[in-house]
Amino acid sequence: MPLYSDEGMVLRTIDLGEADRIVTILTPRHGKVRAVARGVRRTKSRLGGRLEPFVRSNLLIATGRSLDVVSQATVITAYARSICSDYNAYLAASVMAETIDKITPEQPHASTWHEIAPQNAGSAQDVAQYRLMLGAISTLSRRLHTPCTVAYSYVMRALALAGWLPRLDSCVVCGEGECRHFSSSAGGVMCDTHQLPDSRTVDAHALTQLGALIDGAWDVLDAEPRLDATTIAIVEEWSEYYLDHPIRSLRLLHSIA
Ligand SMILES: [Zn+2]
Repeated sequence: MPLYSDEGMVLRTIDLGEADRIVTILTPRHGKVRAVARGVRRTKSRLGGRLEPFVRSNLLIATGRSLDVVSQATVITAYARSICSDYNAYLAASVMAETIDKITPEQPHASTWHEIAPQNAGSAQDVAQYRLMLGAISTLSRRLHTPCTVAYSYVMRALALAGWLPRLDSCVVCGEGECRHFSSSAGGVMCDTHQLPDSRTVDAHALTQLGALIDGAWDVLDAEPRLDATTIAIVEEWSEYYLDHPIRSLRLLHSIA
């Protein structure tokens, strides 16, 4: 079987058969990869702990007929222990994993993929999404900011990278500033004249917080104990609208935000 190497962060795992798992891995050069990890649920497995969620590893993967197979994994950084020891951080990391899983399309199967792009260096989008995820997971594991805020910021930044960046400075229709309405379907803020039936009222404070989430302006975000209810509602609405589905773990995060 042909092999390819990449580094990756495991997003989630599903048990398969008696001792195997299917792991979903975000990589910088191959996008999102799904591969079988054989025997990892056996206590003596060498691969086991290296393929848990939120572990960053160097991987060697064999191209299989239907699914690829993880052949080797060497841990670069195990964020898992720090993240899983704190429920809020774990929940925030779960929101992030679910978000990128929904944003990133399945790659064409590797055997076809190699034929199309044998020297693929990773698309700019894949590399940028991988770096964003790595930065956010590392931030969470070091407890640099409130886990909820890290997750909400991540959701908005990952969506912005994917092309869904809301316009916050002026009406999406006429360009007038100081808007008091926000519409996900219209793509941002709207003035009194152009607001839509689905717009929600938004004040300057929530817009500042939204902008800070997108820019990663931690001096603004850390100055307050929590995000406004409107800010949280807009992140949920924006992600649900553009991903076509709600991020389920975001609802759990909402309950502790
Ligand atoms: Zn307008």
